[in-house]
Amino acid sequence: MIIAVDGPTASGKGTIAKALAAHFGLPHLDTGLLYRAVGRQCFLDGGDPDDAGDALAACSFPDGLLDDPHLRDEGSGGLASRVSVHPSVREALFERQRAFAVQPGGAVLDGRDIGTVIAPDADVKLFITADTETRARRRWAEMRERGKTVDLEDIVADLKARDERDRGRSHAPLVPAGDAQVIDTSTLDRDQAIRFVIDAVETALARE
Ligand code: C5P
Repeated sequence: MIIAVDGPTASGKGTIAKALAAHFGLPHLDTGLLYRAVGRQCFLDGGDPDDAGDALAACSFPDGLLDDPHLRDEGSGGLASRVSVHPSVREALFERQRAFAVQPGGAVLDGRDIGTVIAPDADVKLFITADTETRARRRWAEMRERGKTVDLEDIVADLKARDERDRGRSHAPLVPAGDAQVIDTSTLDRDQAIRFVIDAVETALARE
């Protein structure tokens, strides 16, 4: 069983994907981390993330980079959204994601284009969303927990810029798959969102 979880930054999709993986006993891949690693590697190489050649060269990052705590920073998120615009970067990361999706027993993947490009054949497709203000507050609280003080206004501006880049790119833009269930978590807390989504997946599976 493949479960595709897409949605914008700080929508809660990562938390939800992890909870679904634990509930259904499936392996989970956070595909955003791969793009973050490419962005970070490009930065470490002194490359330009807006240059397709520099970004592609960074796709051969060492696996150990995936454990780098810097990947969770807002800076790496911004770099990721810049390198992810290049079709050659998306192609370079395709096989790794596809192989994870089709492994025996199934998997949960979260990202932006799982239901549309990586696993259009997924058994269940979810598109998790929340309004910008709610997402910014969640991101702000998360950063505070990690000991970082950031201005809420800066987070709002960053989220808007990333949303625009992710939605506006010509290759694999952030859009719900036609057969995805769109779930708005703006008014739900973490546990409510998880419960709601587990129920939605169980209902979808029962229908199959
Ligand atoms: O999900 P996360 O915020 O970690 O993703 C960082 C960036 O990587 C996103 O803003 C997006 O530009 C890019 N990304 C993508 N496709 C994915 C996952 C992430 O383009 N499947």
